[in-house]
Amino acid sequence: MQKKHSNDSDPIFVTRPSLPDKNIFLQYVDTIWESRTLTNFGPLCCSLEQQLSDYFDVEHVTSTANGHLALEIALQGLELQGEVITTPFTFASTVHAIRRCGLKPVFADIREHDLTLNPEAITALINKNTAAIVPVHVYGHPCDCTHIEKIAHAHNIPVIYDAAHAFGVRLQGRSIASYGDVSIFSFHATKLFHTIEGGALAYSNKSLKRPFRLLQNFGIKGEDNVFCIGGNAKMNEFQAAMGLANLPSVPALIEARRKVTQRYRDGLADLDGIHIFHPEKTPNISYNYAYFPILVCEEKTGISRDTLYNRLQEHSIYARRYFFPLAADYPCYKNEHPDSAWPVATRVVSQVLCLPIYAELTQYEVDRIIRIIHLCLGNTP
Ligand SMILES: *Cc1c(COP(=O)(O)O)cnc(C)c1O
Repeated sequence: MQKKHSNDSDPIFVTRPSLPDKNIFLQYVDTIWESRTLTNFGPLCCSLEQQLSDYFDVEHVTSTANGHLALEIALQGLELQGEVITTPFTFASTVHAIRRCGLKPVFADIREHDLTLNPEAITALINKNTAAIVPVHVYGHPCDCTHIEKIAHAHNIPVIYDAAHAFGVRLQGRSIASYGDVSIFSFHATKLFHTIEGGALAYSNKSLKRPFRLLQNFGIKGEDNVFCIGGNAKMNEFQAAMGLANLPSVPALIEARRKVTQRYRDGLADLDGIHIFHPEKTPNISYNYAYFPILVCEEKTGISRDTLYNRLQEHSIYARRYFFPLAADYPCYKNEHPDSAWPVATRVVSQVLCLPIYAELTQYEVDRIIRIIHLCLGNTP
């Protein structure tokens, strides 16, 4: 379908939520009028959990109100105490969830080539207080799960993956959701697959199902039995309707993003100092093209990441500096690790820029962004 060309002054944001065919969504909504169940694990919510369990190829899926609460429920459900090793290069949610569950985040450095946690750095930080590892498949780049899980196994601690970016990613022939003790997903409107707001826990250990359900529903076990201190993290039926309507489009969304990525890669390939990631070049990785991060190496480009970011804004292109600043540098965590350093994360956080990517971003718009980047770097393509 040929779309009307956008104007060269129209703003382009880093992402744009996908929407399903409205009639398909409304057909699900009609069933809500019939069931009169709006929330508390209604038929649509249960159906979505089942479909996600098939899609993830994971035994159990617990849907939640959002991804952040899925993470808190995972940490609480595993009854952890002490330190949790995680990455400073992530969205605020990862680290806040650890702290809000009364645990101490301990930051390990990341790897150059995919920006995920460095297993050697994890090993160096493990001690008798280490309760768990929370790696992040940042940008959908899968972590070195084999290595990380070997370390965790040797120390008898669980691994909880923050897979908020990794919907649809596969590693070594397995769904990314099947790794670790638990993987959590975000279905926020800005994510590849969404339920407006929403999230899920994916896991294979059946004994976690009950604690997770209790934690997401006030600890209520039966009419007159409040069993533990739970909160409220239930997915409602309208969220589930959106998820059910969106799920069939996931392969098409990934393919459309792959095309955008390819066009960016072709258009930026000859620019010295613009680093591009190719996660799917690693054997056994099937990528979801959720983000298009670049690294701006100022020594070669002659301009800093922030200058490029500002210049793009002058042209109404709203790239984002995900994940600047490092979580370890937030005022709330800054003073907790005076003797620590994360040289790779510290460098990357000053270089990274996520360019706009979403399924409906047109070739014309991608070319406009590429052209402006060439212009900013003093090249004429
Ligand atoms: C989006 C996101 C979350 C939180 O998910 P919400 O659904 O917004 O609560 C957690 N971790 C990462 C890495 C994210 O990007």
